[in-house]
Amino acid sequence: MKNNFSHSPNIIPGISGAPGISISMAFLYSKEKLDVFDGAVENTDEAIKNLHDALDRSKHELNKILSYANEKMGEKRAAIFEAQIMILDDPVLLELITKGIVEEKKLPEFIVNREISRYTDLMNASEEYYLKERSHDIDDIKNRIIRNLKKKRLKSKLPENSIIVTSNLTPADTILFSKSNVKGFLTDFGGLTSHAAIVARSLKIPAVLGTHDATKRVKDGDMLIIDGFNGYAIINPSEEQLDYYNQKLEKLDQYDKELLNLRDKPAVTLDKKEIILRSNIDVPEEIEILIQSGSKGIGLLRTEQVFGEMDTFPDEDEQFRMYSEIASKVYPEYMIIRAFDVGGDKFLPYDIKEPNPFLGWRGIRFLLDNVEIFETQIRAVLRASILKNIKFMLPMVSSIHEVRLTKHLIQNCKEELKKAKKKFDNHIKLGVMVEIPSVAVMAKEFASEVDFLSIGTNDLIQFLLAVDRGNENVSLQYQEFHPAVVKTINHVIKDGKQANAIVSMCGEMAANTFAVPLLVGMGLDSLSTSPAAIPYIKKIIRSMSYEKARILADECLNCVGIEQITQKIDKFFKDNQIERSQNIF
Ligand code: PEP
Ligand code: MG
Repeated sequence: MKNNFSHSPNIIPGISGAPGISISMAFLYSKEKLDVFDGAVENTDEAIKNLHDALDRSKHELNKILSYANEKMGEKRAAIFEAQIMILDDPVLLELITKGIVEEKKLPEFIVNREISRYTDLMNASEEYYLKERSHDIDDIKNRIIRNLKKKRLKSKLPENSIIVTSNLTPADTILFSKSNVKGFLTDFGGLTSHAAIVARSLKIPAVLGTHDATKRVKDGDMLIIDGFNGYAIINPSEEQLDYYNQKLEKLDQYDKELLNLRDKPAVTLDKKEIILRSNIDVPEEIEILIQSGSKGIGLLRTEQVFGEMDTFPDEDEQFRMYSEIASKVYPEYMIIRAFDVGGDKFLPYDIKEPNPFLGWRGIRFLLDNVEIFETQIRAVLRASILKNIKFMLPMVSSIHEVRLTKHLIQNCKEELKKAKKKFDNHIKLGVMVEIPSVAVMAKEFASEVDFLSIGTNDLIQFLLAVDRGNENVSLQYQEFHPAVVKTINHVIKDGKQANAIVSMCGEMAANTFAVPLLVGMGLDSLSTSPAAIPYIKKIIRSMSYEKARILADECLNCVGIEQITQKIDKFFKDNQIERSQNIF
C-alpha cells in the first residue's frame, strides 16, 4: 500500500523521530516566555536564600520526573534527568551565580540567566551537532530555575490524547506530556539523536521532528496525522488520506495480533527449510520487544549505542555488567556483540574533524589505534562469555591484517584474564562485518580467518555504489536491488559458506520484506533485523517455498537492471500468492 501523499500541500515534511502513526487533535504548546529584568537587590542574603529555594524546588520537580522516567523508560535512559539534577548541584556554577549576586547586587534571575546562557551560547556556536542538541537541555534547566525564582507554577496540564506541536521538545517535557496520554509529537527543531527523540522512542510515542515551520502552519485544534515511519505530518487530512491512515492503523493493530500468534512458531519455509531470525539491538529496552517477537537471540548488539549517550567509553566493569545482563536474558540463544563502531556518523568522544568521516577513522581502525579502549572492551566481552552464548564481531574491517591484529589482542586479553584467575569462554567465536567491498571480494579468505561473516548492507551498499547512506539528495541511487549489490551478496554467501563460515545478514535489507525471498533463495540461513520487523519476515518465510526462492535468485542473478530484478520478485509474490504486509519498517 504505497501512498502518493508526500507531495500534497497539507504535508509537513520532517525527520522520523519515533516510529508509529497517530491521528488526533493538535495542541500548540509554547513555553511561557519568562522576562528577566536587570534589576538590583538590596538584601543579598535574602536573594541567595531565594536562589537556594528555587534550586531546591527545581530539584524536587526533576526528581519527580526522574522517578517517573525510571519507571517508564528504565534507569539507563532516565539518567538524562540525573545529569540535569547534577547540574543543579554543580559547585562551580553555584559559586559563579552566588558571586554575581553578592558582588553586583543584581537579581538572582538575571545572574542565572546570564551565567547559564554563556554556556548555552558557546554550545550553540559549536559546529558539533551533538553540542547544539545538548544546549536545549541546559536551557531547560535555566528556565526551570528562573520560573521557580519567580515562584510561578509549572503548567503541565494538557488536553488528553492530543498531538503536541512545539518549537522544541526537552526530555522533561516529553516525559511530562506522556502522563497526559499524548498521542504524538511534531516539532520545528530537533534531530534523530536528540534526547527527546530517544525518550519518544522509548515511550513508543510517534514523533516527527525538525520540520522548521510546524508551529507556524498548525493551529490549535487542527486535525493531524503523524507518520513517524516516513517522517512527515499531515494537517487537516483529506478523506482519502484519513482512510489510508485508518487502514494503516488497523494493519498495525493486526500486526500486534500476528506478533502474538507467530511468536512461538519457527521461521520455516513450506518445504521445511528453517531460517533463523535474530534481532539487532540498539537500546537495552528493545530486549523486551525481542522476547515478544520470538526472535532467537541477538545478531547485532550495537555497543556504541546501548550505553546511551557516552561522554567517555564505559569502563570494563560497566561493560561486563551490561553484556552479562543481556547475555543472560537471551540465554540459551546467543548474542553477537559488535566492537564499538565509533566514527562516521556515530558517536566519537573526541573532537576530530574529518573531510570524509564515513571513509575516515571508524570502527576497527579507531580501535586498533586506541588499543587500551579496545582491550578494555575485549576483556569485558570475554568475562561476560562464561555462559558460552556470546560471539564477538568486528566493524568496518577492510583487511585481513586488521583481523590478525585483533586476534593477537584477544589472545593477550585471554592471558591477562587467566593470570587474574577470571573465567571466560576460551572458544569464543570471532566474526567480521562484510560492509566494505574489499571484504566482500575476499570473502573466502576472510571466511577462512574467522568463524562467521555478517553482511552489513547499510554500509556495503553505500560503499559499493558510492552513495552516502544518509544523504537524501542521492537516496534514489541507494538501491538494494542494484544487480551489483545482489551479485556481491551472492558471492559472499557462496564463498563464505564454501570456506565453512556461517554467513548471515544484519543490514536493513534483511528487514525489507520484499527482499526476503531473494535473500533466502541466495542461501542465507539467518537474518538479523530490528525486533519489530521479525513477525513480518517470519510470515513471508512461512508462506514461501525455498526451492522456488532458489530459482528466483538464479533468475535475478542473471539480470542487469534494477527494474528487471524487482519485477521478478514482484511476480514471485503474486504467482505464489504470498501476502506481503506493507513494508513499514
Ligand atoms: C550495516 O552497515 O549494515 C550495519 C548493520 O551497521 P550500522 O548500520 O551500525 O553501520
Ligand atoms: Mg555499518
